[in-house]
Amino acid sequence: MYPAYAAPSDQAVRLYDELKRFLAEEVFPAEEAYERHRDEAGADDHTVPPVVEELKAKARERGLWNLFLPSESGLTQLEYAPLAELSGWSLELAPEAMNCQAPDTGNMELLHLVGTPAQQERWLRPLLDGEIRSAFAMTEPAVASSDATNIETRIERDGDEYVINGRKWWITGAADPRCQVLIVMGKTDPDAATHRQQSMVIVPVDTPGVTIGRSYPVFGRQDQHGHTVIEFTDARVPVANLLGEEGGGFAAAQMRLGPGRIHHVMRALGAGERALAMMVDRAKTRTAFGGLLAEQSAVREKIAESRVELDQARALCHLAAHTVDTEGNKGARHLIAAAKIAVPRAVLSVIDRAIQLHGAAGISDATPLASLWGWHRAMRIFDGPDEAHLTTLGRAELTRDPLFDLPPTLHDQFR
Ligand SMILES: Cc1cc2nc3c(=O)[nH]c(=O)nc-3n(C[C@H](O)[C@H](O)[C@H](O)COP(=O)(O)OP(=O)(O)OC[C@H]3O[C@@H](n4cnc5c(N)ncnc54)[C@H](O)[C@@H]3O)c2cc1C
Repeated sequence: MYPAYAAPSDQAVRLYDELKRFLAEEVFPAEEAYERHRDEAGADDHTVPPVVEELKAKARERGLWNLFLPSESGLTQLEYAPLAELSGWSLELAPEAMNCQAPDTGNMELLHLVGTPAQQERWLRPLLDGEIRSAFAMTEPAVASSDATNIETRIERDGDEYVINGRKWWITGAADPRCQVLIVMGKTDPDAATHRQQSMVIVPVDTPGVTIGRSYPVFGRQDQHGHTVIEFTDARVPVANLLGEEGGGFAAAQMRLGPGRIHHVMRALGAGERALAMMVDRAKTRTAFGGLLAEQSAVREKIAESRVELDQARALCHLAAHTVDTEGNKGARHLIAAAKIAVPRAVLSVIDRAIQLHGAAGISDATPLASLWGWHRAMRIFDGPDEAHLTTLGRAELTRDPLFDLPPTLHDQFR
């Protein structure tokens, strides 16, 4: 079908301008206080720097709140894409200031889509209000978790309760003391058909038998909200905490990961733009061997390659977002996968060039570049590693009907 995008609504344009102002007036000036607080608190501290809560109040006042969820914001995914991209300019602060941060957004989407009214009242409401945070617990150290059918954690029914036993790791957000609830994926029926064995349950973090352990660093850097190990030992929750239907966990995970992936990709473009802006600034201000770096053709080439890669990546991201709007997550799944592969790669190569241009400063914590590189390198693994998406995409391409029957060629006689 011919891809024709609708013009953005007045509301989307207004929010874009407002967000630009918010970044310039409030978010960028707050970055130093955020970093200073985290430096002073030490790497193992996962409390939130106060400036984040201050920014949340300011963003909400400006109407920059829950923009990721169409039913709350009235925005399409395509309209949200440039806004999410802007927030990617300040990845640690802007998404959370707007209550649009992972992994809460994916959890809110799930609760919105399949939660019961009671679950929505208890957990979705405070999440939408930014009062609590949440985590999504699927990955396990013992099995290849890029294949969700491998998950071994048991969720066994015992009367009116589910009993949970298993070990998870890399559970983002669970180290933050504000995290009150986990959405846990496990097996309710290991004998069912492969994709019907899993279910999701809502587990409050203070449930007896839930132990949140160490947080893993990303390339040596501890993220504020952490990526933790979680042990479940005979943890019991009421059956009313089942999210969706029993056996529906695999399908719900796909439902959750689609929007989660595309939103990561949208924000990544903003991080890439920031790296490119830093590269340009460095080239225009640093002198080596008698001239500005910007005068070297090798440097200009780096800058030009970066512009080409980011614009290509954005085009794919927007096509995927448009397809989510017009055909739903399922219809857009291959384009989302393509964007999930292409955008982090493009952004990583831009950040890598920016690091190179910054010399030693680029690999240290003197600039945000090193941590941005680490995050986007991790993105090629989380929410499904590149290879898993490539395998699915390759299979889809092989079964796709070509637009035309191929015209005959001279070589056909040799087939
Ligand atoms: C920063 C970060 C945050 C995370 N946050 C969360 C979270 O909040 N909740 C959560 O549950 N998990 C989270 N994860 C875990 C993440 O989703 C998993 O690491 C990811 O799904 C891969 O699973 P795995 O680590 O078990 O790797 P494995 O499944 O063991 O895969 C290892 C490698 O095998 C190769 N491979 C896999 N499949 C294929 C294939 N089909 N073809 C060819 N090669 C293949 C790939 O190279 C892959 O990287 C996070 C991870 C990171 C790094």
